[in-house]
Amino acid sequence: MVLLTKGDNVWVDSDIGVAIGAKVRKVTGDKCVVVDDTGKERVLSHQNGSGVSLMHPTSVEGVADMIRLGDLNEAGLLRNLQLRHKQGHIYTYIGSVLVAVNPYELLPLYTAEQVHLYHGRQLGELPPHVFAIADSCYFNMRRNHCNQCCIISGESGAGKTESTKLMLQFLAAVSGQHSWIEQQILEANPILEAFGNAKTIRNDNSSRFGKYVEIFFNNKGVIEGAHMEQYLLEKSRVCHQASNERNYHIFYCLLMGLPEEQKKILSLGKAEDYSYLNASGCITCDGREDATDYSRIRSALKILTFGDRDCWDIFKLLAAILHMGNIDFRGSIMNNMESSDVSASPHFTMSAKLLEVDTASLDASLTKRTFLTNRERVCKPLSSEQARDTRDAFAKAIYSKMFLWLFEKINVAIHKKPAQGSTQGYNSIGLLDIFGFENFKTNSFEQLCINFANEQLQQFFVRHVFKLEQEEYTREDISWKRIIFTDNQPTLDLLAVKPLNILSLIDEESHFPKGTDTTMLSKMNQVHKSNSSYIVSKSDHDIYFGIKHFAGAVYYNPTGFLEKNRDALSPDLMGLVQKSSSKLLRLLFEKDLNANTMKQNNSKVVITPKSSLRQVNEKCRGTTTLSSQFRQSLDSLMRALSICEPHFIRCFKPNHSKAAKLFDRELCIRQLRDSGMLETIRIRKSGFPIRHTYREFLSRYRVLLNTVTCDPRTEPEEECCNAICKAVIRQEDDWRIGKTKIFLKVR
Ligand code: ATP
Ligand code: MG
Repeated sequence: MVLLTKGDNVWVDSDIGVAIGAKVRKVTGDKCVVVDDTGKERVLSHQNGSGVSLMHPTSVEGVADMIRLGDLNEAGLLRNLQLRHKQGHIYTYIGSVLVAVNPYELLPLYTAEQVHLYHGRQLGELPPHVFAIADSCYFNMRRNHCNQCCIISGESGAGKTESTKLMLQFLAAVSGQHSWIEQQILEANPILEAFGNAKTIRNDNSSRFGKYVEIFFNNKGVIEGAHMEQYLLEKSRVCHQASNERNYHIFYCLLMGLPEEQKKILSLGKAEDYSYLNASGCITCDGREDATDYSRIRSALKILTFGDRDCWDIFKLLAAILHMGNIDFRGSIMNNMESSDVSASPHFTMSAKLLEVDTASLDASLTKRTFLTNRERVCKPLSSEQARDTRDAFAKAIYSKMFLWLFEKINVAIHKKPAQGSTQGYNSIGLLDIFGFENFKTNSFEQLCINFANEQLQQFFVRHVFKLEQEEYTREDISWKRIIFTDNQPTLDLLAVKPLNILSLIDEESHFPKGTDTTMLSKMNQVHKSNSSYIVSKSDHDIYFGIKHFAGAVYYNPTGFLEKNRDALSPDLMGLVQKSSSKLLRLLFEKDLNANTMKQNNSKVVITPKSSLRQVNEKCRGTTTLSSQFRQSLDSLMRALSICEPHFIRCFKPNHSKAAKLFDRELCIRQLRDSGMLETIRIRKSGFPIRHTYREFLSRYRVLLNTVTCDPRTEPEEECCNAICKAVIRQEDDWRIGKTKIFLKVR
């Protein structure tokens, strides 16, 4: 044990495998009494004190930028975050990366004064803050005329959406026009949250979709418009929620806020009356006022150019979904085949009325299914269970298409075409608020897509922080210690790059009419059994397969993968939509209807024997799978990000109970590990984060030339830079002269 005296700050072992801070209270003989950070007293002796070490002074008080930490290890990072959290400092830097710990309480940090304070300041000049990152985006955009993006990541409930809103609030404030367009952009949020957020066990306002918001500025730095992209809304929530979770907020708001006479027309009652809302045992959400939110959503809709007619059409379809959820089916056996009938109920008639279709057609399309095989139509009755699935598929499709349509309509409202000839002056700041890595008890197709997105983003982060850094030093021929980091490229290769990668195998099998989840799994096992990022099912009877993700191994249950990926409604439901008098309903399914018509026409087209199976299927289907749509939108996101200067915010969730001032060390260390923070801090610290070309450096620090005897008119720029550094920077290791640039350390 190191020699200790009273008052020393030390590190001692803890039961979660990472050292904890402690203060020495008493030293007697070979015994030493310490009190650790949780307030626990411990007696250390030579026998058990081998893991004790002295704490670096920076860890005792805590630092605002963890690059300055002396104890550059997990324990050091964890304690620093914990200490700051306790002091009420929820923001901490790691160089230019902001770590934000959810305070779970309202802090007086986001006032107009604070906006003013942070505007126009250098990063690090003031205490860490989300506004400082927003300002850095704004400043860099204007100075470098380069698009900026900010990637906000973290697990559910960590504070991504709140941070995104704060960034937007700041940018709108510094744009400073209080214009209609600024207001419209801000008001898009309540709408998206009403339709895309829900109470989950992790977060009372959990975003069940990802979004990328790009804000366009003119060359005066004024907001001119915006664009919002959405990713992968969780459709299943429309019909089922886990125990104690809720459906999307909008349903409860509608039932609580809609005026009585309108509710009457839609035949709506209380949330408790609807099986899509009452099965999870959770109707209300503490801290949310559904009726008040309704008014807020109505006024936001108005601002975003949704007329009374649009709103009424939306509400009609939402009511139709609720009524549909209450439709039940009676099963029977007909000609040795299972079949079903709709049980007569006012909900059924009301569904038909609100969908503007006749009851007979609705009945038929829910209880029968037409199959197109060998260019022949076969109509099969559905069992009551299949009919319920068909009903749910229809409800989910209506809701998710409505969500897409809301986005499109909002985008039309907030998109402003640049005036002729002024396009050059436009730059943007993009904010990415996307679902974090997920690893649940049961992981399905959605988790695979979400985790794939996270692998891509991690790769982007890794590339940015690690690879570019190293490549730059090599290119510039400057010496520095190499750092070993975890590269997740092999996992990405397995998922989406290698021939027969996981996503393409899922797609292939989805196109194959006889493909099942089991045939898909056996192909995956066969093709990837020797890939070290793939975990083969334990036996032929084991249905799980695993992927080693950057944040840990995840086991997926492939049941339902193909159906989710095919994402297709039955031709009967498509026919029903086509016959509906509801303009909105037809509009929502417009693309699919076109594809469906193509499909029907195609069924008459002779397919030559030379056509490949894939071509045949694509011709017949006309629509793409969910995973390929998602991949396309991710690809375009990654392309957009790659031409931006990136900024990163890593949100942390301090505890599972949504409590203020409670810091769960185990939970936080997992998040630190998952986000690759330790590597970030090491590379940043040992690297040279500030860099200028010789010319830039000279023009910036021209005044310092007076202190040296070097004249840039007669001597090479490189020499002059060197001379300035030698004269001004005391520590020799704090700068490097590269081939074209000068590199400086942060002090
Ligand atoms: P999800 O992935 O589930 O959407 P998220 O990361 O977007 O989660 P948020 O919805 O932003 O999480 O935050 C969850 C809750 O935490 C908020 O509703 C709010 O109560 C609280 N919270 C987050 N950030 C802050 C903050 N800066 N100040 C006060 N409370 C906050
Ligand atoms: Mg969110």
